[in-house]
Amino acid sequence: MSYVEVTRLAKAFGDNQVFKAIDFSIEQGEFVTLLGPSGCGKSTLLRSIAGLDDVDHGEIWVDGENMTHLAPQKREIGMVFQSYALFPNMTVHDNIGFGLRMKGVSKAQAEQDIARFIDLVELSGKQRHYPHELSGGQRQRVALARALVMQPRILLLDEPLSALDAKIRKNLRLQIRDIQKELNLTTIFVTHDQEEAMLMSDRIFLMNQGQIVQQGKPEQIYTQPKNQFVAGFMGHYNLVEANFARHWLGVDAQSTLAIRPESIYVREAGRQYPTHVSAPINGKITQHQLLGNVIRYTIMVGPQTLTVDLLNRSSERLLAPGSYIDILFNLNEIQPVRE
Ligand code: ADP
Ligand code: MG
Repeated sequence: MSYVEVTRLAKAFGDNQVFKAIDFSIEQGEFVTLLGPSGCGKSTLLRSIAGLDDVDHGEIWVDGENMTHLAPQKREIGMVFQSYALFPNMTVHDNIGFGLRMKGVSKAQAEQDIARFIDLVELSGKQRHYPHELSGGQRQRVALARALVMQPRILLLDEPLSALDAKIRKNLRLQIRDIQKELNLTTIFVTHDQEEAMLMSDRIFLMNQGQIVQQGKPEQIYTQPKNQFVAGFMGHYNLVEANFARHWLGVDAQSTLAIRPESIYVREAGRQYPTHVSAPINGKITQHQLLGNVIRYTIMVGPQTLTVDLLNRSSERLLAPGSYIDILFNLNEIQPVRE
């Protein structure tokens, strides 16, 4: 049995069946991300595990114990939300210590624990500050310390980074991952951001409309999407129909193919390409977008619009819209996908 086992979990709000048979298991110390579009049921699933929403059917087991009908405060689960939900009239120190006081931990032990977690989330020197004196990132670190100080069996994080600026978000996601590893803490993280999920997770559970559509390691989901939804969500995959693939690529496709933008190359004199590439196919550049180290081109081949990512080497000129170029497909990186 795994550390976390969820079986046949079902939850409806009135007529709205959010999910009806969710199954998964998570190992101790794993960092798993629930990834999916807004409204697919991520928060409801997390709240069900925390005991904040009652489930209609199914079971939730943690560390060999059936938690399905246990009161939230008895589950020993830590939770951090997008909104920090700190007590505004309490200092950082008191916010972090609140749960320990409720639990009846001795003052000496509480002080030791508070100090340890303030240090761990790098808020030393901020003990006496109030939430309104902190930045968003610092407030979220207080919320994290407040959850961690209780030494939960599982940490649940519901879009904790979504309200923060890009730069703070990038720092904090690495920091959360480091702390999680250091504590070997079983963690379920929720996001709708595939880059965040790819970067942070041991495994991703990709959800759509109340179902886990695909689960696996980030690179597995990214390179082997099993249906069109996954391909569309995980990257800027090109979806090309079997007819196009047969006619233009000369491959014997039976279904739609998913092709990543970085596995199509623009042919240039003197450059080496992988061995299994298609014959050159002429296309017309219609657009380009500068994404920093990558230039994303839109290229028309016959009736098909393709997205092609090229590394932005500063020495090279941009390919101008309207120009014709030859492109090559890496035939090893073409993935058949179901509807
Ligand atoms: P996500 O977190 O993936 O955006 P949610 O779990 O918040 O999705 O929502 C899933 C579905 O459940 C949505 O249709 C939402 O409207 C509905 N829902 C969520 N919470 C409640 C609630 N407390 N009462 C009624 N419907 C809810
Ligand atoms: Mg949500």
